[in-house]
Amino acid sequence: MCGVLGILGKMPLSMARELLLLLAHRGQDAAGLLWISGNEYIEAKAMGSPAFIELPDESPKIILGSTRYPTIGKRVGTEKDLDIFVGPFQAEQIALTHNGNITNMAVYAEKDYFTDAQFITDKLAKYLSENNNILPDAIRKLSSELDGAFSIVGIHEGKLFAFRDSRGFKPLVFGRSKDLTVIASESTVHSMIGIDVERDVYPGELLIFSQDGKLESFSISQNALHSHCFFEYVYFAHPATTIENQLVYDVRFRLGRALASAFKKMNIETPDYVVPVPDTSRPAAQALAEALDVPMREIILKNRYLGRTFIVRTQEERNAMAKSKYIYLTDKIRNKTILVVDDSIVRGTTAKMIVKDLKGLGASKVYFAATCPPQDHPCYYGIDISTGKELIASNSRKEEIRKYIGADALIYQDINDLVNAIGLKDLCLACLDGDYPTEHARYIQEQLQDEEESDSRDYERVIG
Ligand code: AMP
Repeated sequence: MCGVLGILGKMPLSMARELLLLLAHRGQDAAGLLWISGNEYIEAKAMGSPAFIELPDESPKIILGSTRYPTIGKRVGTEKDLDIFVGPFQAEQIALTHNGNITNMAVYAEKDYFTDAQFITDKLAKYLSENNNILPDAIRKLSSELDGAFSIVGIHEGKLFAFRDSRGFKPLVFGRSKDLTVIASESTVHSMIGIDVERDVYPGELLIFSQDGKLESFSISQNALHSHCFFEYVYFAHPATTIENQLVYDVRFRLGRALASAFKKMNIETPDYVVPVPDTSRPAAQALAEALDVPMREIILKNRYLGRTFIVRTQEERNAMAKSKYIYLTDKIRNKTILVVDDSIVRGTTAKMIVKDLKGLGASKVYFAATCPPQDHPCYYGIDISTGKELIASNSRKEEIRKYIGADALIYQDINDLVNAIGLKDLCLACLDGDYPTEHARYIQEQLQDEEESDSRDYERVIG
């Protein structure tokens, strides 16, 4: 996952940086802004938060922004890495930024690329030159070749454009006021500047926005079936974001209610408190507490100045970070039965740590609930889980997982309840059921199943 942003209409660069901060939760590795000054593309990038991007005091008429999440490839560690790994990218007259993951880059790439975004940029520049600089034709050609997830915002001939793969994996919305057009991964960007979201960019649609306010829409690829990433609702997106007309907060609340029904069926002792693992699971914990008629207590607090542990590469680093990530209200824990709610159990590191900590602080029982069903298949569309081996649910049954994390009970969301809570039928659930909606991802899956020795980054080898 990454965050993408496009702005058409005069805006101070410092304000664009503020807007990019609203997408920082989608990628904390690095961030970049690109704009046109005179006839030139200018870029400014920084490691970590968009807040660190240094900018001149200018108000360009067109701006792109990205926050980076390292799906494949390494983390940004040096200034030099910023050029190689962090968008927006440019080639000849085109500039763009990308959220998603292309699974078949090696099939079409004419050289080795560090990122799929740079590959897409170069390909689009090439197809523009082969198609009389006609953007819809070039993007149609490009889209017909790409397998995977892409939500893209770019600049061509002083116009802002946006397009999305025909499955609509990753979110992309736009809104307009008299003077501004804003395209972004999440609608919170529009709320911040008081612009109504007009709608999502449709799957398979290309939109071109001109400086005179004209908007053109083109169909670039079609698919009767869409595959919106369910994990956006469960984990990635900000709760105030609306994706495909569903408010993420409401979805998370409904996920909590569904967990309450599952909990009631277990006939176990009612907890003293429901406790969210901050921050994603708060709405679900609230709903769960209301449905069970017990208080919700925020006794696990986050050290908000630490990054997300997931992005750390080794298990040892992850354990150390998971430990320092939370602070507990220790005097609320002794002799209590606590129902902890998190959005997901991926490798099991966080759940194990929290249960151990709470028991160490005197909790009499700790139940653990996840708003996400067991994830037992890797994601090839942009989530940083590249092999099944990393996933605790792919190696262990529920009872083994319960024992591993040390909980007295383990409650997972049911897949049907998840789908109902989101309220959309056309979802990508591949990391839950192994049903990959695109051809090349299925090919990768077959190759990896054949490989006994696959380690944690092996799918990059078979990606072509
Ligand atoms: P784990 O500790 O490996 O079981 O991962 C679960 C924790 O990581 C939960 O607290 C989630 O909020 C968080 N998480 C789940 N998926 C992701 C992801 N793709 N990127 C970053 N964090 C995640």
